[in-house]
Amino acid sequence: MLHDEKGQCYGAIQTINNISLKKITEGSLIRVNRALSTLSEVNQAVVQAGNEEKLLNDIVQAIVRNDKYRMAWIAYIDNTVEGDLKIMAHAGFENDETNIRVVCGNKIYGCNSIGEALVEGKYHITKNILARRGCDKCWGDAAARDYTSTIALPLIYDDQKFGVINIYAREEDAYGHDEVALLLELAGDLSYGINALRTRQERDQSVIALQDAHDYLEHKVKERTKELMQANEKLKELDRLKSMFIASMSHELRTPLNSIIGFSGIMLKEMSGPITAKQKEHLQRIFGSGKHLMELISDVIDISKIEGDRIDVYPQMFNMDELIADVKDLYALQAQKKQLQLEFDVASGIYLFTDRKRLQQVVSNLVSNAIKYTENGHVKVSVREYYGMVEVVVNDSGIGISEENMLYLFKAFERMETHLKIREGGAGLGLYLTEKLVSEILLGEIEVESEPGVGSTFRVRVTQDLREESVH
Ligand code: ADP
Repeated sequence: MLHDEKGQCYGAIQTINNISLKKITEGSLIRVNRALSTLSEVNQAVVQAGNEEKLLNDIVQAIVRNDKYRMAWIAYIDNTVEGDLKIMAHAGFENDETNIRVVCGNKIYGCNSIGEALVEGKYHITKNILARRGCDKCWGDAAARDYTSTIALPLIYDDQKFGVINIYAREEDAYGHDEVALLLELAGDLSYGINALRTRQERDQSVIALQDAHDYLEHKVKERTKELMQANEKLKELDRLKSMFIASMSHELRTPLNSIIGFSGIMLKEMSGPITAKQKEHLQRIFGSGKHLMELISDVIDISKIEGDRIDVYPQMFNMDELIADVKDLYALQAQKKQLQLEFDVASGIYLFTDRKRLQQVVSNLVSNAIKYTENGHVKVSVREYYGMVEVVVNDSGIGISEENMLYLFKAFERMETHLKIREGGAGLGLYLTEKLVSEILLGEIEVESEPGVGSTFRVRVTQDLREESVH
């Protein structure tokens, strides 16, 4: 069916234009009119069609409406039985529809015009069945049902014959040239309409199938996400229990260790009586190892607390000068023993409101490492304010860190393969804990630059005032 831009049908009008009106007699004018009005109704049905079954029924009804034609039916080629047709819709048979003769005789698709039309793929007219005595059954039907002529129009789409529409007229020799032209257009429009509907249905079904698949996937994703979340919660709980276990075990270890450190300290100071040089040397080892073990246990406790989300933060106001002075006291002797220059460059009057103990722990760890991994030269600590943060830089002229080792620097239990690894004790937890304290407690960041054989620079920036951070 052809439409202009406004969606109006003009195929039929064109057909009329092709008709030479002069040649039309009064009788044939009536026939052309009925074909025209049928075509118009058919086109309307095609445009409005919602489903195929209704479309076919609307069309056969339109054909017989107002007694334009006597009867009509539409059949599809039955692909399951060769040469057979399957009736899809009919009109005008009153109560006699069970005896609609679609296929008759031995010929493929029947002996009458239907068979011819389907085999040749062209319309076929029987002008007067009653005059054609070839088939008694067809003759009998025509006499009983009051029709004389028929036209069978094949339904073709994309060069494929898929059905036929058969129209019966009372009068003999009913189908003139102009009427046939209109009926051919009718069959073409019907074929187009059926296929358009099927395409639309297929598309709708695809959309529904896609939607179903999408819903199913969404459901699956939700299910999996829920399972993952549950597994994650379980893991978190296990991790928390592990951290709690480590914390309580480490705590248990601390009590006897405190006694070891305390009493060996007392004995070293000869408060419990004089000791020999040999005993002093041994006690010093006990005291030193005890302290080292205590630091290690403290690190483990801190890590497990942070990982178990159970670490408390105690922010307070303090002056950075004082904190650096404490660090200096702690490490001056150590640096001196290694003949290292321990230098400080601290901008004065820097106040912070943060967890002092944790910040001191961070600076101490970095200074301790710098002294451990520097054999000669200097360790320099600089402090300055940096856009709402305080920056502490610990620079050394030590062994440095290779680019490859940089990747493992802040990972737990990672110690680099260097000639100092054995001599300088350590568990590889210091920088792991330092990074966690900086990022999670002091709300800052840590970065490092290093060149093997030249030295390293650890740069820590922490939030100057934790109260302001919590406002943001
Ligand atoms: P530990 O010092 O107990 O081994 P850390 O986590 O503090 O553990 O450090 C991890 C590793 O990083 C050290 O074993 C060392 O190889 C390297 N490292 C840390 N600080 C320095 C530094 N200032 N210079 C060179 N190497 C360093």
